[in-house]
Amino acid sequence: MSIVERVTEVRARIEAATIGAGRTPGEVTLVAVSKLMPAALVREAYAAGLRDFGENYVQELVGKAAELADLTDLRWHLIGHLQRNKAQKVVLVASAVASVDSIALAVDLGRRSTMCPVPPPRRLPEGSDGRLVVLVEVNLGGEAQKSGCSPAGLGALLEAVDREPGLALRGLMTVPPYTDDPSAARPYFDELAALRESHGGAARLPILSMGMTHDLEPAIAAGATQVRVGTAIFGARTARPTQAFPS
Ligand SMILES: *Cc1c(COP(=O)(O)O)cnc(C)c1O
Repeated sequence: MSIVERVTEVRARIEAATIGAGRTPGEVTLVAVSKLMPAALVREAYAAGLRDFGENYVQELVGKAAELADLTDLRWHLIGHLQRNKAQKVVLVASAVASVDSIALAVDLGRRSTMCPVPPPRRLPEGSDGRLVVLVEVNLGGEAQKSGCSPAGLGALLEAVDREPGLALRGLMTVPPYTDDPSAARPYFDELAALRESHGGAARLPILSMGMTHDLEPAIAAGATQVRVGTAIFGARTARPTQAFPS
């Protein structure tokens, strides 16, 4: 199947899940996760109409952004854990960081992005004034190997992002513990939606980024406004991230 066909299929899944949940078609945006995939495939997905792409590793993000610099309205979302010493590299190319998980990182990103406004073609519809769009990642399963702040630490982290003039706080992101049965992830998605309600609601946090290839339906049923889909668009990833892209 071609990338165009896969994108069409994923869009149909998103649309069906949105309508099935009694929500308005079009209110869920698709971020295509291109980690470990060559720039040529990103170009194909761009030609199929996609503009938002997610990457996990800074070195890979920077390389692909350079290779695809001619696609000036392509928006890169960093969705993987970010080390503070790489904040500068990220603000130069990214439109959004979906994985802010500490106050120290928020401060560093804020300081850097004040000096590097996001240029107009790369700005997200939700963004404004050249600020870097930020989602705070929450670790709901309490898994040690996953990044994300704890639900208890969320309030303080959101306030820290709000204090940074270079950052535009726009929502929450989570990756639930993996289960073979996608519906088992539903309680985590409901929990992220509830956390949003207890921290200012959709007015303060319009984006709920949750749901991937295998569990986008329960995520949309629980209120996701953004899904991050890799495998269903680009096929299975074979290389091990740590080998291909040492950080
Ligand atoms: C890899 C990844 C995805 C995409 O996962 P698929 O199962 O390939 O759709 C989404 N979000 C994050 C944070 C990821 O690391």
